[in-house]
Amino acid sequence: MQKFIDSYDFTGKKAIVRVDFNVPLNENFEITDDTRIRAALPTLKKVLAGGGALIIMSHLGRPKKVDPKFSLKHILAHVSELLGVPVQFAEDCQKAQAQAAALKPGEVLLLENLRYYAEEEGKPRGLAEDASDEEKKAAKAAVKASQKEFVKTLASYADCYINDAFGTAHRAHASTALIADYFPEDKMFGYLMEGEIKAIDNVLKNAQRPFTAIIGGSKVSSKLAVLENMLEKVDNLIIGGGMGYTFIKAQGGHIGNSLHEDDLMPQALEILAKAKEKGVKVYLSVQTLVADAFSQDANTQVVPSTAIPEGWEGVDAGPDSLAIWKDVILNSKTILWNGPVGVFEIEKFAQGTLQIARDLAEATEKGAYTLVGGGDSVAAVTQMGFSKKVSYVSTGGGAMLEALEGKLLPGIAAIVE
Ligand code: AMP
Repeated sequence: MQKFIDSYDFTGKKAIVRVDFNVPLNENFEITDDTRIRAALPTLKKVLAGGGALIIMSHLGRPKKVDPKFSLKHILAHVSELLGVPVQFAEDCQKAQAQAAALKPGEVLLLENLRYYAEEEGKPRGLAEDASDEEKKAAKAAVKASQKEFVKTLASYADCYINDAFGTAHRAHASTALIADYFPEDKMFGYLMEGEIKAIDNVLKNAQRPFTAIIGGSKVSSKLAVLENMLEKVDNLIIGGGMGYTFIKAQGGHIGNSLHEDDLMPQALEILAKAKEKGVKVYLSVQTLVADAFSQDANTQVVPSTAIPEGWEGVDAGPDSLAIWKDVILNSKTILWNGPVGVFEIEKFAQGTLQIARDLAEATEKGAYTLVGGGDSVAAVTQMGFSKKVSYVSTGGGAMLEALEGKLLPGIAAIVE
């Protein structure tokens, strides 16, 4: 049964906590952004303050074998500094029995990178490219079999399990899902996971109406499932960014050299038809900033989105689109934003995305619930300084995207089911 971290008695207990310490490192192995470590601190500190000991586990990068480049030792000193206590290190996450057994309340042990072992992901490694289907099947079965021992060993270190790694919650890995089975009465979410789950519920289950989703980004193909799920939930659907041009072209518009996916035009038309049927209002971009190159010194002009001249490509939403969208946003009580409405990485093409961030901040101030998550819009609001001005900014790109597609994430299912 799921327990809650706030009411759990950690006195004398050892807690094994899955965190997402997959932080970026520079060429000297120094952390360039410690946001992910800081995000797990409330949970880690709660266990220590409650009289427990901590066994922290994470992955770092994508090593395919033991590789010092991806050692969590690089972050040990910083974790210790942020936690305010010394942190011991287990050089091998599968050989930490003695260190775990010796932990006293208030002490902390960080396990070496879980992904040094293929068993963490449960996927075979080192298969020859020309391996036959039989060989692939056998290798998969072998890693699945040894995965059981791997999970059992990790579980043997602790009395309770906490998952606070939202960034990997969409993966059914040993440490994110399978281990929970060993703690039927003592498994729980950390504060970060709880926050993300509440944010998801606030839009997918308990949305105040009107509910508007703003879906942008580059490709329809990567957002198709989100769009389809949103049609079941929202009153208004704003479709912007590169993916919008597929919809405009499918309806007969001229989009010049703008990004588009011809093979997805039938699905785009289907989405529009379904929206009509369900009474969901769709707002495509009516006006576009077009450029003759993908660079800061490109020539630009503002044109109707259905009449983009040859040789020019849509790179941002035009002022008329932004005015219509602003009106929709400010009249909504719940707003979900996934994906930028322009090529915001280039300053000249970032105005539309900046305006959406401003609109969301204004709507939040007026009392709307606003969630930014599951795509590059997170980078945009953070970079533009708006992350504290919206209700919630998700920490998990892929995990949030899958949650918005309506999937129950394995990391969540393992705790609640
Ligand atoms: P996604 O990861 O799907 O949310 O897509 C984010 C990417 O979409 C960003 O790198 C943006 O630069 C890109 N993007 C947004 N609008 C456009 C556009 N009009 N043309 C090309 N790329 C775009």
